[in-house]
Amino acid sequence: MAGGWTRDGAVQDQIDANVEDAVKLARSRLPDGEGLTHCEECESAIPVARREAIPGVRLCVSCQSKLEKQQTTFTGINRRGNKDSQLR
Ligand SMILES: [Zn+2]
Repeated sequence: MAGGWTRDGAVQDQIDANVEDAVKLARSRLPDGEGLTHCEECESAIPVARREAIPGVRLCVSCQSKLEKQQTTFTGINRRGNKDSQLR
């Protein structure tokens, strides 16, 4: 543990690591084929390739990245944990 959010570089490294871990974790936990065909946010179709890559996916690429940016900018890691538990 790098001790946190005092330096931008360290924060970014930590976020990257956490996102990767979260993706791995999500992939290992969620069953295949449970994702949405259309984005929960904007109702765009989610490409099949994305749904196959991320079982349980609920957002299109652009909404997902917007969400991740917001969470990174405004609330950081703890909020994402909350959101994740709400989704379950
Ligand atoms: Zn969307």
